[in-house]
Amino acid sequence: MLDTLLELQTRDTAIDRLRHRSDTLPERAALESVQAEQAVVEQQVAEATVRREAVAREEQRFDDEARSLEDKAAEVERRLYSGEVTSPRELQALQADVDQLRRHRGGLEDRELEVMERRESLDAEVTELGRRAAELEAEAERLGGALGEVEGEIDGEMLVERTARDEIAATVDDGLLADYEQCRHRARGMGAARLNGNTCQGCHLSIPSVEAERIRKSPSGTVAHCDNCGCILVP
Ligand SMILES: [Zn+2]
Repeated sequence: MLDTLLELQTRDTAIDRLRHRSDTLPERAALESVQAEQAVVEQQVAEATVRREAVAREEQRFDDEARSLEDKAAEVERRLYSGEVTSPRELQALQADVDQLRRHRGGLEDRELEVMERRESLDAEVTELGRRAAELEAEAERLGGALGEVEGEIDGEMLVERTARDEIAATVDDGLLADYEQCRHRARGMGAARLNGNTCQGCHLSIPSVEAERIRKSPSGTVAHCDNCGCILVP
């Protein structure tokens, strides 16, 4: 019966290792790091897009104003050359209007050009961030796939170990099983270990030789615990 506990311990140790492996998969850490960067880049894309749109609106406003001034200048110019106006003073005033409107338009166009350069640089920034976001998306997908694959393998191994473990546990007396579980809980996963000479194979520490001798001479099935780690010692 006590030897059965060692078989159970072997399975439980394997399950613990699989669980630990599953909890510490480098693929998961890598995926989380990529996802964190994705969140940052998404935020940057959103911010750059807002800035780009504000600048694009400013550019459009300058463009609209420049067009409207040009329309006005063309209208005044039309009157200037229409022959409707003959007074030299009035003609001079109209020419001055045209010049003034065109100067104003020219000034707006210079500012529009500056804004356009800012908008183009933001266009490039948004494009670059979008490219980075796509790269990260592909990387996250690749890592997600790799993680799923490893997790699937571990799940498969886990199922084998658990099935075997449950089969063994079903053959162990309830009281002994409860004792074993309690020891496992206390002794960092070790519920039962072989007593090898004076050494507990659970914690690899020695117990007094008198104690080891007493355990070996006890009637079969007598449960004894390691003084150091508390696991059930199997002589
Ligand atoms: Zn021990």
